[in-house]
Amino acid sequence: MKKKQFMTDNKNKISAVAKLIKESTMTVALTGAGISVESGIDPFRGEKGLWAKYNPEEYAYIDAFYENPAKVWQMLKELLAIIIFSKPNNGHVGLAQLEEMGYLSSIITQNVDGLHQAAGSRNVIEFHGNNRWLLCIECSNRYETDPDIIKNIPPRCECGGILRPDVVFFGEAIPQKAMVKAYANAKSCDVMLVIGTSAIVSPASEIPLVAKDSGAKIIEINPEPTPLTDQVANLTIYEKAGTTIPMIVSELKKKS
Ligand code: NAD
Ligand code: ZN
Repeated sequence: MKKKQFMTDNKNKISAVAKLIKESTMTVALTGAGISVESGIDPFRGEKGLWAKYNPEEYAYIDAFYENPAKVWQMLKELLAIIIFSKPNNGHVGLAQLEEMGYLSSIITQNVDGLHQAAGSRNVIEFHGNNRWLLCIECSNRYETDPDIIKNIPPRCECGGILRPDVVFFGEAIPQKAMVKAYANAKSCDVMLVIGTSAIVSPASEIPLVAKDSGAKIIEINPEPTPLTDQVANLTIYEKAGTTIPMIVSELKKKS
């Protein structure tokens, strides 16, 4: 497709999405690692991702953590060092603006970087936990994550117990509260924005299907096609989140 045609198509899609959001009584966003790429945090998959360097079998499973916490902490330290100093980008800010304008009810995020809250979003459901807190595996004491606490790995609690991040490892259940809230939101929304997720990590990948089955329109924002594209999504904008979301916000501002 020629560039000019592509841009016209995208412009038409942005207007269509703004119209859907305007007419919707409840719009929900589901976000994945892609929305944080423009903040300098790469997705785990792909050539620059953590999984290219660390085999997820050895580093991402809860059993692997308990077997060798010091080893898994090497990978966690690398990830946290990036997350601690990252800042929200225009995509995160745009979603916070949509909430502020009354157009977005909640964000269900698979991310563990806290960037939606840093951008000002208030109603954020963290499906896979977050990295802001470290928990003691012995006494459940909580510590805020900062560069000092992860200087020596594995970091330890005052009681001597090893600390873990408050994230969901593979092999662990999704926090009950997040699960219930996410599914309830998916069932009652009439528009779902699916942003920057490859939609292959279950059970998060089922959330757009639940929304669709309940009658919601699914809007996908992702530079690459996913299993949702053409099958589940009513419309896909093949663009970066940081470019697309501010355009939707501007379009909605024009019309209000
Ligand atoms: P994923 O790595 O499977 O997929 C990322 C998706 O983002 C891809 O489809 C890619 O095409 C798209 N993408 C890349 N750049 C984009 C951009 N600028 N704008 C919009 N989309 C873009 O990510 P996932 O589906 O979220 O699943 C990976 C798992 O790893 C999740 O469970 C998540 O918790 C975790 N993770 C979190 C972070 C974080 O907190 N920032 C980072 C990496 C991985
Ligand atoms: Zn402890």
